[in-house]
Amino acid sequence: MTLYNELVRFMRELYPKYGYHEVMTPQLFRSDLFKTSGHYEKFYDDMYWFAGSDEGEELGVKAMNCPGHCHLYGTAKRSYRELPIRWAEFTRLHRNERSGTLNGITRVRTFAQDDAHIYCEQEQVPDEIDRFFQMTAEVYQKLGVDGIEMAVSTRPEKFLGEPADWDVAEKALITAVERAGFHCRIKPGEAAFYAPKVEADFKDVLGRAWTLATIQIDMAMPGRFGLRYVGRDGELHQPAMLHRAVLGSLERFIGIYIEHTGGDFPFWLSPVQVVLLPISDRHAAGAHAVHAKLAEAGLRSEVDDRSETLGYRIREAEGQKIPLTLVIGDDELSRGTVAPRLRKSKKALEPIPVDALVTTLRVANAERSPAPFAGRA
Ligand code: ZN
Repeated sequence: MTLYNELVRFMRELYPKYGYHEVMTPQLFRSDLFKTSGHYEKFYDDMYWFAGSDEGEELGVKAMNCPGHCHLYGTAKRSYRELPIRWAEFTRLHRNERSGTLNGITRVRTFAQDDAHIYCEQEQVPDEIDRFFQMTAEVYQKLGVDGIEMAVSTRPEKFLGEPADWDVAEKALITAVERAGFHCRIKPGEAAFYAPKVEADFKDVLGRAWTLATIQIDMAMPGRFGLRYVGRDGELHQPAMLHRAVLGSLERFIGIYIEHTGGDFPFWLSPVQVVLLPISDRHAAGAHAVHAKLAEAGLRSEVDDRSETLGYRIREAEGQKIPLTLVIGDDELSRGTVAPRLRKSKKALEPIPVDALVTTLRVANAERSPAPFAGRA
């Protein structure tokens, strides 16, 4: 839950910078909505359906946010002045996956995505793709995820829309990938029937490729929902619609990320960031006092005051990949200082006042630093 919540918090904090507004749409919709979106026909077996209390009412548990967002778009008259609209949503999604295909937390029946949909003018699509790549680069840099390969999936044999429109959309994606400085691989015919897409593929430690970030240009839904906006010319136009996710399914991302890092997370993501080790029983109260200060500053720490040897407890904290250990003894308590011990450097730094430590760690958290005291280690 710490990983999940911190990832959501991270994305949420980036949203204002990249112009997103967060929305929350219902878990359940009448099946009419999914008939309009096309999911009733194409995705029926992958969703959960049941009868509502009204005569003949059929409800579907949402498996994706796009139909709800299109409905939301249609609830008001839209003008070019409010475009691009970027709506993000973290609510839970449910898919009726066959039990044989379920796999750990990488393939589950309930999950959430860092999902968003962008409605914009056709001419704004290239800028929106660039903006998405910038955001993706910032997120992956903070997470220490590298070795990403970009690929564009082009239209399958059966597709919705006009070939000429697909040509334009595919070309826009390819040039955006190249503009971002990536070599662009092509996956011919691998797009969904309604949207060409860019995928950021990532290889895990076993060499398996996983798709993390995706952005798709939807060729069908704006038309199916009859979405319009009043353009600069005073006429009604159909907006372009993009689906995009940076992490994708949070559950799946966490599964891949745990394997990728071997549990050695950046400081800001570590479930336990600091472990306090009182040398003996008489130092335990002092360790708990430091713990309380860290907790007050929003830092995640634990006191390990078991009657094991100090060396044993240090080794165990290292095995748990806890970034920072603080040994608390007579010197520390009499002077009000602590000597931070970084797991990676395996030695203690110069003692510093407890308040200075709290400040440094709070800043490291806010900046989403891979490790505090990195310059001094
Ligand atoms: Zn979508």
